[in-house]
Amino acid sequence: MTPQKIYGLVGFPVKHSLSPAMHNAAFAALKINAEYKLFELKPQELEGFFKAAAKNNIFGLNVTVPYKEQVIPFLSKLSEAAKLTGAVNTVKVSDAGLEGFNTDGEGFIKHLKEGLRFDPAGKAIALIGAGGAAKAVSVYLCRENPQYLSIFDVDKEKSVNLSRHLKENFQNLDIKAVDSIQGLNIGASDLLINATPIGMKEQDPCLVDEKLIHSGLLVYDLIYNPKETRLLKTAELKGAKTANGLGMLLYQGAAAFEVWTNQKAPVEIMRKALVSALG
Ligand code: NAP
Repeated sequence: MTPQKIYGLVGFPVKHSLSPAMHNAAFAALKINAEYKLFELKPQELEGFFKAAAKNNIFGLNVTVPYKEQVIPFLSKLSEAAKLTGAVNTVKVSDAGLEGFNTDGEGFIKHLKEGLRFDPAGKAIALIGAGGAAKAVSVYLCRENPQYLSIFDVDKEKSVNLSRHLKENFQNLDIKAVDSIQGLNIGASDLLINATPIGMKEQDPCLVDEKLIHSGLLVYDLIYNPKETRLLKTAELKGAKTANGLGMLLYQGAAAFEVWTNQKAPVEIMRKALVSALG
């Protein structure tokens, strides 16, 4: 009998991750002899862990905060999406070496277009946050030719850097970093995205003045726990369409699964496992 293949998530902390439930359900459904584990690593453990991955029967890894960029020097090859976002959330371990991918943006856009039936082409988009997740999401949004993309982050340098990076890669698009939530022009937007951690804690405020939210808006919060942030609750009350980040988590996981196994991911089984793990 061939030994069980190991997959897993590398990050710090990782113990609350829903990924084991999602991937182990997929392995079971397709009768793949594999287990998805959690690897909570300190920065100094990272290099040794990746160097020994193949030897330890590891075939694939997800990477999360704070290592999505730090892992890059240990990889032999990067996908186009990983190069463009400068971050890796999926690693394939094979005889060819360690190959890095980024499926976060792909997961987001797939959920947006297929799950929510929202086509970003020609749409006005407001993005709050310019960190790792915002970068992955915005690269994929720009590939869809939106009318414009405005970005606000409390750290102005980050939003300016992200907007510069996007403009270098998508020269014909109208992309700008703005100084405030008001500057996002949410009243005229079709899609509002929260890519900050604000909303994860019970006491977090609503990120956006409710007067700015309108019924023509799709409000997409990348947070999935809690299922409904204050922003989403407010948006719903104002008649806007809403979505949390569970769909993005699901589709990025499905894309990673396909990278590792070359098999079609059992998306509905993975969705059910995620929903039940969330409680
Ligand atoms: P990150 O790298 O820390 O980026 C968050 C950014 O938001 C930072 O630049 C932060 O600035 C900024 N920020 C904080 N408060 C803000 C505010 N009130 N207004 C504007 N900007 C603000 O985090 P990340 O990895 O991108 O993750 C962001 C969120 O997405 C998290 O909630 C994460 O759980 C979620 N996420 C979801 C998925 C999914 O699959 N659904 C995937 C990835 C991430 P400072 O650094 O100065 O605070």
